Amino acid sequence: MSQHSGNIFMVVAPSGAGKSSLVNALLQEEPTMMLSISCTTRTPRPGEEHNKHYRFVSIEEFEALRDAGALLEWAEVHGNFYGTPRDRIDEALQAGRDVLLEIDWQGARQVRQALPSAIGIFILPPSIEALEARLRNRGQDEPHVISRRLLAAGSEMSHVSECEYVIINQEFSDALQELRHIVRAARLHYRSQAVRHAELFSQLGISKTSN
Ligand code: GDP
Ligand code: ADP
Ligand code: 5GP
Repeated sequence: MSQHSGNIFMVVAPSGAGKSSLVNALLQEEPTMMLSISCTTRTPRPGEEHNKHYRFVSIEEFEALRDAGALLEWAEVHGNFYGTPRDRIDEALQAGRDVLLEIDWQGARQVRQALPSAIGIFILPPSIEALEARLRNRGQDEPHVISRRLLAAGSEMSHVSECEYVIINQEFSDALQELRHIVRAARLHYRSQAVRHAELFSQLGISKTSN
C-alpha cells in the first residue's frame, strides 16, 4: 500500500468488557473514523441490523469470501466465524481516514502481519465479577452463551501483552477519554504527520526517511 496518513486501530477485549460501547461513543465524536463491519456466521441479537452491526452470512458464504481472499483476517470465536472484509479498509486508509476494528486476539495477530503499523488497544474489565454482571445485564445472550463467553475471557485476556495499549473500563467516561487520547496521539506519529503535512515538511526542508 502506498503512503497514507490513516491509522488502523484494533480494539480487543473479552466479550462484555465494553468495546462496542466505547467504539460507538468514540465514533459519535469522530465521524470520519471508519468502523469496519465484520462478517459473521453468528445469528443476530435482538436489535442487530444486517450491514450495520455485522454482515450476517451463512457458513457457505463465509467460506466463499475467505477462499476468495476477501477477508483481511478471520477467526473462529465462541463457536462462530468472524472476519474483516478487506475492501473498505484499503479504501479508507488510502483516503487518510482512521479505521477501527473490533476483533479478537487471533484476528489482531493476522492484521499485524499484514499491516505492521496497526495499533492494538486491549479493553479490560475492572473485575471478573463486573464482566459477568455486564454480560448478564446486557441481556442479549442466552445463559449458556454467556457461560461460554465467561469461560473464554481468561484466554482472551492472556493475550493482553500483544496490544500496545490497555484501557481498564471501570468508569465509562474515563475509559472513553483514554481511548480518545490514544487515537489523537497516534495522529501525531511521524509517519502520519509526514504524509498529512507533506507540503510543510518539504517547505521546511525536511527530507523523507523510510521510517
Ligand atoms: P461481543 O464480544 O460481546 O461484542 O460479541 P460479538 O459476538 O460481537 O463478538 C465475538 C468475538 O468475535 C469478539 O471477541 C470479537 O472481538 C470477535 N470478532 C468480531 N468481529 C471480528 C472479526 O471481524 N474478526 C475477528 N477476528 N474477530 C472478530
Ligand atoms: P463488548 O462489545 O465488549 O461485548 P459492550 O459494549 O456490549 O461489550 O458492553 C457490555 C455491557 O456492559 C453493555 O450492557 C454496556 O452498556 C455495559 N458497560 C460498558 N461499559 C461499562 C462501564 N464502564 N460500566 C458499566 N457498564 C458498562
Ligand atoms: P459478538 O458475537 O458478541 O458480537 O462478538 C464476539 C466477539 O467476536 C467480539 O468480542 C470480537 O472480539 C469478535 N469479533 C467480532 N468481529 C470480529 C472479526 O471480524 N474478526 C475477529 N477476529 N473477531 C471478531
